[in-house]
Amino acid sequence: MTFDKAYCKELGGNVTAYKARREFFAQNDLDFKFSFFCPDENCNVELTGENIYAIGKVKHKPHFRTKKNCSHSDDCSIVEELDKEAKSIDKGTTTATAHSHKTNKYPDEFILKRPKKENQNKSEQSDDDDFDIEPRERRKSTTTPTNDSKPHKTSYLENVVDSYEDMNEQERKEAYITLNAQRKTYHSTFKKIKYFQDGENFIFYGEIEPIKVYGDNYSITFKDRVWIDKKPYSVNMYITDDLISNYRLSRLFRESIDTLAKQGSNSKNARCYFVGSYPKLKKILRHDGGLYTVYEVIVENLDHLVIKFEE
Ligand SMILES: [Zn+2]
Repeated sequence: MTFDKAYCKELGGNVTAYKARREFFAQNDLDFKFSFFCPDENCNVELTGENIYAIGKVKHKPHFRTKKNCSHSDDCSIVEELDKEAKSIDKGTTTATAHSHKTNKYPDEFILKRPKKENQNKSEQSDDDDFDIEPRERRKSTTTPTNDSKPHKTSYLENVVDSYEDMNEQERKEAYITLNAQRKTYHSTFKKIKYFQDGENFIFYGEIEPIKVYGDNYSITFKDRVWIDKKPYSVNMYITDDLISNYRLSRLFRESIDTLAKQGSNSKNARCYFVGSYPKLKKILRHDGGLYTVYEVIVENLDHLVIKFEE
């Protein structure tokens, strides 16, 4: 049985595995480990974090599982909740039956901009997302379905992307997510880059060419060209060393993109997702003095960029 959330002693609340991984990479002690427990205070069995501390494992979703040789208390409300969800999926009319082992709930809202903190004395760094730490509450007895209706919000694009990739076509058409106050299905929220002219409020994505490295900077080009007035244009993204260095999770980002860059033309199915920016026409001077035109995506916040690839 796997879990989306755990109580983390060091962070002082219930967190998702995505949050835990971000917190780990935002600090520099590589040997540091969090202690995780069942979110049910009365159960409190120890949990293990998977894919939280490893850089290379971009392919695998971070999650929690019960520590070996440990078991949840007989009346653990979390286990009961998950059992119930699994059963309702089994009984459900959706095609999700085949995935009945899945106990994880997909996010139903993506928070593009985190709410501003009232306490401005806190440093930039800690401003990240305490928003994602929930207080540990004593769970009510399971006769009332308290948590079923609770929306699952996230500010981690990766969480949304993993969910999208996890779903089949039918599930994508049935599951809804809110992006910038617009509620649409996952299917309608994700947009292939070649159709970017359909509008701005989408999570854009597409397969990418091998990453080009220029010193400490990186250039990403989507494989699909965009056809405008019967002419093809490429869509590019330039990730500067500066942008990465100023990113809270620079170590995680740089090591991931380096891993992909090293794969070169051996990289398979490398794909890039972004949100909150929009391709703009740009003229570029060629070495021979000629001009060529591309669409450029300027990413200002690396939290809004996710690159996935097989290793
Ligand atoms: Zn438990």
